[in-house]
Amino acid sequence: MTIPFNKPYTTGKELGYIQQVIESERFAGNGTFSKKCAKWLEEKTGCLKAILTPSGTAALEMMMILADIGPGDEVIMPSFTFSSTANAVVLRGATPVFVDIRPDTLNIDETLIESAITPRTKAIAPVHYAGVGCEMDVILEIAERHGLLVLEDAAQGILASYKNRPLGSIGQMGALSFHETKNIHCGEGGALLINDPAFIERAEIVMEKGTDRSKFFRGEIDKYTWVDLGSSYLINEMTAAFLWAQLEDAEDIISKRIYIWNTYHSELEILEAKGKLKRPTIPDECQHNGHIYYIVLENQEARNSLMDRLREQGIHSVFHYIPLDSAEAGRKFSKSVPSELPLSDQISGKALRLPMSPGIPFERVCVELYRSIRQV
Ligand SMILES: *Cc1c(COP(=O)(O)O)cnc(C)c1O
Repeated sequence: MTIPFNKPYTTGKELGYIQQVIESERFAGNGTFSKKCAKWLEEKTGCLKAILTPSGTAALEMMMILADIGPGDEVIMPSFTFSSTANAVVLRGATPVFVDIRPDTLNIDETLIESAITPRTKAIAPVHYAGVGCEMDVILEIAERHGLLVLEDAAQGILASYKNRPLGSIGQMGALSFHETKNIHCGEGGALLINDPAFIERAEIVMEKGTDRSKFFRGEIDKYTWVDLGSSYLINEMTAAFLWAQLEDAEDIISKRIYIWNTYHSELEILEAKGKLKRPTIPDECQHNGHIYYIVLENQEARNSLMDRLREQGIHSVFHYIPLDSAEAGRKFSKSVPSELPLSDQISGKALRLPMSPGIPFERVCVELYRSIRQV
């Protein structure tokens, strides 16, 4: 039997909720299930307003519109991230500025941020890799000193926290993803978390195609018109119904993942002690959500060879980001400070993510890993 890298989880309640939507004959955005999901996110993260979006990518794009990122502006972020973090900035005509990552968490190295700040810098976009929080106190302090916004890419960060503050609720805004590869999903989906009241009114306009329709629905005005920049950032009710089934069980789903994470972590301790691999580090300030379990091998050859051997045993492990600064679009649209980012480069070649989903036989992954690693 093959073990997939990701097996999207379903709770069994999704279809029943979708059936309710069909019976309600109300399918468009901002319906009953959308409101339930948004309220849940507001309660669990403590954000002022949660807006469901068609994807994590859309949440990032909406965030950059609200932050007024425009031509000539720069946004500092790690190079070791998904294209969406950078694309959202490039789509505004602005420039992503990449800095290197920390070797322990693979998150942005907060000590390198200040050297990348210029008069054009508008924001810092920390990415919480694997649902492990970035060093947010330092990042917030730098941002405050230089008058910058902190815009979190918390796509992987649902219900994870830094110093008891939920990821995505720490900066002015945060983006979550509900893609099928994430802990909690609805196929494609996301959410924008707004933590600064200054952005709320405009967010309601931007998500409604640049109109003041939200005010109209609340009866605050008697007709609505086009008042600002915008797009369609709502999700339909079928998707929200699916998501609601998942959110109801979110804590349980995440504890299942953390159980797998902890098992990998204790099983692999001996291999780390023998110098065969490096396990992830979770700083004391961080409560993670079991999103990714990765190991770092000696070099790229060892990583690739282990990945091949696991595949021969039917186990699908995967590497992660090709650093954006070395990608074709990265070279065209962004800059790096300094011009080389050695850690991002090395980690990209040496890290391997192990299968991580509730319901997969992860014990077998451990056994095969022990067997295979002796040969690499
Ligand atoms: C998944 C992910 C995204 C994009 O989310 P989608 O919902 O797939 O659009 C953005 N950033 C990071 C770090 C991600 O892991």
